[in-house]
Amino acid sequence: MVNICSRCRSAIPLGSAFCLECGQMREMLHCTSCGEILQTNAKFCGKCGKKIE
Ligand SMILES: [Zn+2]
Ligand SMILES: [Zn+2]
Repeated sequence: MVNICSRCRSAIPLGSAFCLECGQMREMLHCTSCGEILQTNAKFCGKCGKKIE
């Protein structure tokens, strides 16, 4: 499972906050309930279990 850079479309490894190719900051989602940082493809919050819209 990898994230794709929104600028250059190269793969960003999990755990990296920035694209290794162009330095673009990876898009972060935050849980609207508890504020936990979520993976961009997350369906549910891993901390509180809230469904991500
Ligand atoms: Zn990039
Ligand atoms: Zn949450």
